[in-house]
Amino acid sequence: MFISKSFIPILKNNPTEAKIKSHQLMLRVGMIKQSSAGIYSWLPLGFKVMKKIERVVREEQDRIGVQEILMPTIQSSEIWKESGRYKDYGEELLRIKDRQGREILYGPTNEELITDIFRSSIKSYKTLPQLLYHIQWKFRDELRPRFGIMRCREFYMKDAYSFDINDEEAFFSYNKFFLSYLKTFKRLELSAIPMAADTGPIGGNLSHEFIILAETGESKIYTDKRIFDLKYDDEVLEKNSLKKLREKYEKFYAVTDEKFDQKEFDKNVSKENRLSTKGIEVGHIFYFGDKYSKPMNAAVDHQGKKEYVKMGSYGIGVSRLVGAIIEAKYNDKEEIMKWPISVSPYDIAIIPLINKNDSTNLDKAVSICKALNEKNLDVIIDDTEENFSSKLKKFNLIGIPYQILLGKKSEGDLLEFKEIGKESQNLSVKQIIDLVTKIKNKI
Ligand code: ATP
Ligand code: MG
Repeated sequence: MFISKSFIPILKNNPTEAKIKSHQLMLRVGMIKQSSAGIYSWLPLGFKVMKKIERVVREEQDRIGVQEILMPTIQSSEIWKESGRYKDYGEELLRIKDRQGREILYGPTNEELITDIFRSSIKSYKTLPQLLYHIQWKFRDELRPRFGIMRCREFYMKDAYSFDINDEEAFFSYNKFFLSYLKTFKRLELSAIPMAADTGPIGGNLSHEFIILAETGESKIYTDKRIFDLKYDDEVLEKNSLKKLREKYEKFYAVTDEKFDQKEFDKNVSKENRLSTKGIEVGHIFYFGDKYSKPMNAAVDHQGKKEYVKMGSYGIGVSRLVGAIIEAKYNDKEEIMKWPISVSPYDIAIIPLINKNDSTNLDKAVSICKALNEKNLDVIIDDTEENFSSKLKKFNLIGIPYQILLGKKSEGDLLEFKEIGKESQNLSVKQIIDLVTKIKNKI
């Protein structure tokens, strides 16, 4: 791909309307465009990143055996009346009337719809557990949409739901997601910590928010900072080892502000380990038992008895993660972004120094690009005649982690290869392919 042909509308300066660095950068390099309050179009660069995040999220759901489905964005109000949330959800719920005058709504979440799908087909406990997920747009009419796609009204979310016969099995499902979330965020190079959280309007009694630290975050957290040093092995999907994994995290005090208790904090965390700060919620898991299955009559036959299924729900803010990764990785003082290779819009940028009437470097760029493409590496070439340093500045903002610089330091087959934030080195095309492919295969 040539940058001159791409739709990457870069701004010269930081947009003044944006208050936090992720919002600034996303507008600056043309990843999104606001279409109305809290509603955005995703332009190629932003869309590529979001799709790659989605892929990581999907792979980690599939890995724990969750089955993908797709539910619609529009739901009937009937099922929401059954659960009682048509009234309780309040003004964040976008209510619409169709031409017959029927009340419908744009789904802010899908507990009701999935419960309706479940109850119409599953009758026996023998088909449990059922774990289902979808990745779909949601709408919440937020009172104050802000910070770009971090708190918007229309956003892209992965939501999964579990159905089990009893608490013990339901906790097993919950813990599978707990592990899966740790892995997902790790692949995105984020250090997201599970914090005990309030269950809010979803209801129930067990819940963790996965939070990354960021000054601009809207969640207040209180924690023992040693929780950040915890490591986990590639745990097997086995009841006991997953239970232990969650206990390992829960040993440390780590809560969001709704659950905060100063006395408990002081008692459980030594002074030097206390951390109270702000963060961004990137995922949230809940266990809420029969909160929906009972009013909506979702039950299975179990040894001649009718049992309401025990449910949990598990969300990840796929679109919010684009901003969250920027908050974590963007150095706004030096104006340098570096995407994790797992989600970078391109794998490698080729930046040739181009003098008027001399196409040598551009030709070289095109032939290198071909070789990289053949090895499934996604490449963008800066074919503009801008001066070299402004090209570098631009690519430091775009944040593709690997660059091939075709300037004075590239000699013959030995190309100047640079990983953002590191010293450059001279490598052959083959060495570059091996190096980047190896890193890509690891994630
Ligand atoms: P928040 O506390 O940030 O309002 P929430 O608790 O209401 O979020 P959940 O119902 O747990 O959100 O939704 C699952 C995930 O969806 C959240 O963890 C977050 O990453 C994402 N999300 C929620 N609301 C928004 C929003 N308005 N804009 C973008 N992403 C959102
Ligand atoms: Mg939440």
